[in-house]
Amino acid sequence: MAAAFLVALYEYSPLFYISVVFICFLVTSGLVMGWFGWDVPVILRNSDEAESTVKVSQKQMRQVKNPFSLEIKNLETASVSNGITLVPDCLEDCLLTCYWGCSVQKIHEALQKHAYCFRIKTPQAFEDAVYDEYLYRQQYCIKTSDKAGKHCQVPEETQIIDFGPVPRSRYPLVALLTLEDEGNREIYDIVSMVSIIHVTDDSYRLSCRILYQYLLMAQGQFHDLKQLFMSANSNTSSLSSPPSGDRTEDRVLLEKAGLAEDEADLPDENSKDCIVCQNRAVNWVLLPCRHTCLCDECVKYFKQCPMCRQFVGESFPLCGRKE
Ligand SMILES: [Zn+2]
Ligand SMILES: [Zn+2]
Repeated sequence: MAAAFLVALYEYSPLFYISVVFICFLVTSGLVMGWFGWDVPVILRNSDEAESTVKVSQKQMRQVKNPFSLEIKNLETASVSNGITLVPDCLEDCLLTCYWGCSVQKIHEALQKHAYCFRIKTPQAFEDAVYDEYLYRQQYCIKTSDKAGKHCQVPEETQIIDFGPVPRSRYPLVALLTLEDEGNREIYDIVSMVSIIHVTDDSYRLSCRILYQYLLMAQGQFHDLKQLFMSANSNTSSLSSPPSGDRTEDRVLLEKAGLAEDEADLPDENSKDCIVCQNRAVNWVLLPCRHTCLCDECVKYFKQCPMCRQFVGESFPLCGRKE
């Protein structure tokens, strides 16, 4: 009966076509607009909601007060024969001890010893830990008010002109910063800083630079101090050559560690525009690449670093996040 009715309708009425098309239109638009609550691939939504899918884990930060800082002055002219000028900037009175030609293997053993039992809080402890495996030693007392550079040079009578062919078994220079006052060693979490420095000589012309800086903690851990790469400094081309002389980046990390006390050293707000929106101040450090190029807003949209395309494993803010 119904079939006969449909056939009659089919044969005689254009209304049939019209209603079929209309019903199809309603069903399709219902699916697209999500009236039935089904999850259809075609989703018309506000693009802002996309941010919820980009979730990068945020690294838990701990602030520590680092009493030590060490920089090299005049990197270009520093060499074994001319000497090197070290500029310590410390919060307390410190001892700067320079070890020329310190054994690579013994240094790393000493760091392990520090972690397990033998805390390196004094130059004497360091020398015991490396079994006096160095060629020449110099020591300077650094007062907090003393911002002048210390010129370190091996005297001619030692006849040290280089440290042998590459690969070497000795680091050219190891600078150890320790707290002079015993009482201060109880106050700070960080008890010493070991800077491993390459110094140019005739047999290896690689320019002078800090290779590693280790912060040794009172509880036995040690941390490798790393530079941050700020997009603010991109015009000085320091980004492409991370280990080169520009140490302003790690100033930021030191600041994170509570060291930097003078505001003047910090890049001012205008100079650190976010590389994506060019509008807000850079605040987020992406790990593991350490590019610091995104603001509070833009960081939500990136799973990959916009500068080097490396996947972002973790991130942390330089300043507390403004909600
Ligand atoms: Zn931005
Ligand atoms: Zn990157």
